[in-house]
Amino acid sequence: NQKQLKKLKDVQVVTKEGKKIEVCGNIGKPEDVLQVLEYGGDGIGLFRTEFLYMDREQAPTEEEQFESYKFVLEKMEGKKVVIRTLDIGGDKTLPYLPLPIEMNPFLGYRAIRLCLDQIEIFKVQIRALLRASVYGQLAVMFPMISGIEEFKQAMEIVELCKKELEKEGRSYSEAVEWGIMIEIPAAAVMADELAKHVDFFSIGTNDLIQYTLAADRMSEKVSYLYNPLHPAVLRLIKMTIDGAHSQGKWVGMCGEMAGDEEAIPTLLEYGLDEFSMSATSILGAKKKLLEN
Ligand code: PEP
Ligand code: MG
Repeated sequence: NQKQLKKLKDVQVVTKEGKKIEVCGNIGKPEDVLQVLEYGGDGIGLFRTEFLYMDREQAPTEEEQFESYKFVLEKMEGKKVVIRTLDIGGDKTLPYLPLPIEMNPFLGYRAIRLCLDQIEIFKVQIRALLRASVYGQLAVMFPMISGIEEFKQAMEIVELCKKELEKEGRSYSEAVEWGIMIEIPAAAVMADELAKHVDFFSIGTNDLIQYTLAADRMSEKVSYLYNPLHPAVLRLIKMTIDGAHSQGKWVGMCGEMAGDEEAIPTLLEYGLDEFSMSATSILGAKKKLLEN
């Protein structure tokens, strides 16, 4: 069976209508890219960059981050690489970055909220991403976006970093795509409006489900409520996909649900353009997608 699946490694998933579907991998460490290639990923749909910041004494420098992003882009040889900016807070903390103690960290100071507040930390990452962008096809996305203002503020910082780099005589690519994660219900509801401003969406179902159903993704006690196929979750996903397509933008999914074989037929029917998952789920997902 594993051998049969392996045959799908270089198979491109195409729908009955002739639309290409991207089946990509999620990574945490740059080296994980090798496993995604081994399993035939069409690209990287989510690079969780917070792992570069974890298990160390201080934040990675611009140079270190640049090397990590360049490595992944080069290994993917022109295939799309979606890198998510720092998503710290919630369940993930850093020893050198004290966070306020909050009653509800998942509803608090995390991800883009923290980055827009601590711009010096954010700028280091944006500069590293821009500098690496010349080595492949880079797409950058911001986590935990609740409204358009946050995207606009983030893009102001991107523009600032571009100017700095120009002054320093460093190059970056103009072809970078800039997108947002849809993982807060408000963003899903407003998807058609948000889509006017961004290049793409990626649906983060791990958080979207917990926020929609008010069921902590870490709590076993309420895990019975945490249902990816709940009709409310499905409606939000459909709204997100329709919203993106109404503005001619593409939409991916990088939460666990994208690799869930029970969910795949529905997501395909809704018109999801890209599915991103752990490397080991890629071949099974391709098989499921090809059956439909
Ligand atoms: C998600 O929320 O679905 C997601 C992909 O991000 P993370 O699991 O890192 O929060
Ligand atoms: Mg998330």
